[in-house]
Amino acid sequence: MNVLVINCGSSSLKFQLINSQSEQVLAKGLCERIGIDGSLTYQPEGQDKIKEAKAMPTHTEAIQFVIEALTDPATGVVKDLKEIGAVGHRVVHGGEAFASSVVITEEVLAAIEDCNDLAPLHNPANLIGIRACMELMPGTPMVAVFDTAFHQTMPEKAYMYGLPYDYYKNYKVRRYGFHGTSHSFVSKRAAEIFGKPCEEVKTIVCHLGNGASVCAVDGGKSVDTSMGLTPLEGLVMGTRSGDIDPAILEFLAKKEGLDITGLMNMLNKKSGVFGLSGNLSSDFRDLETAADEGNPLAKAALEVFAYRVAKYVGSYAAAMNGVDVIAFTAGIGENASIVREMVLEYLGYLGITLDSEANKGRGKEIRISTEDSNVLVMVIPTNEELAIARETVALV
Ligand code: ADP
Repeated sequence: MNVLVINCGSSSLKFQLINSQSEQVLAKGLCERIGIDGSLTYQPEGQDKIKEAKAMPTHTEAIQFVIEALTDPATGVVKDLKEIGAVGHRVVHGGEAFASSVVITEEVLAAIEDCNDLAPLHNPANLIGIRACMELMPGTPMVAVFDTAFHQTMPEKAYMYGLPYDYYKNYKVRRYGFHGTSHSFVSKRAAEIFGKPCEEVKTIVCHLGNGASVCAVDGGKSVDTSMGLTPLEGLVMGTRSGDIDPAILEFLAKKEGLDITGLMNMLNKKSGVFGLSGNLSSDFRDLETAADEGNPLAKAALEVFAYRVAKYVGSYAAAMNGVDVIAFTAGIGENASIVREMVLEYLGYLGITLDSEANKGRGKEIRISTEDSNVLVMVIPTNEELAIARETVALV
């Protein structure tokens, strides 16, 4: 079956058409600046990218262009829409309502809408994408795959904040965690490589991209993760602060005259390694180059980032009373060997020795701990689209 995987943002839409038998990507692309002017980038497997300006007042036009591109007689990869058996949608927040992926019905749409408060930037956009697909592909089954679902196995002690209980009872203020599709995909693969059933393996997954989170997976289940009610908690990220003393908000509000919108904007967009490096860059390639050239702020930003990752890994080894596999994934985890090295320098006490030669590799599965290490440390590339396609096929 061919599965169309859709990742819909407020003004962009990423897509991949995946053949579920061969797990090959038949075509992929991106609609950008939806509601502004609009452009479509489309790349059939093994061929050149095509980028065209196309007027996209809404997501419905964007999806219409995606369908036209996929079925185009010259550059398309399917003859007609009937060759697309199902659509898998990435949905950011499923709250407590969804502990797994689901086939989309009107009730499911209503339940996703109920979670809009928890992810006001993402869920409404996800819903628009789903409704646009339903309109243009009536009769094709649609599946929602949630970023939060994998973490619904977290125990209460891990998901409760030390806040008045009524806020949980009334508004469901608790930790949810994100990147669940990636943490699930990578931890399953880690168990396969380790050579034991998931149920018997303790894994810590470090998903280090622009957004970054660490997850403790015990026996195939997420038992803790570093992001919380929103993706702002936890690690220091590209532009997000991660954990801070909440009292900083009042302090800076007074000093800088910032209101809550200004404060949130600062925490989400101006902090992280970007802020730490004196606004140099949120991209680790730029930071590495600058650090090599002697820029002290870039060097410090990398050190703060790696130190925070190492602290989370240490705390999750404690939470699970041990760890068998540590896996690095996503843009930074798969590519930035220096960051992996800096993190592992803190973890010698777990009986881990870095294989420096192997650690030079990137973007593929590599074992980076030596044979005699007590913990297997791996680079495992994530593939969220493939994970969504697999979930979708399993449900339809
Ligand atoms: P997201 O999906 O959260 O946007 P990605 O997982 O694509 O993020 O990761 C993007 C980040 O990966 C970039 O901002 C950059 O910091 C980092 N990255 C990508 N390639 C490299 C590389 N070769 N070396 C170091 N860092 C890299």
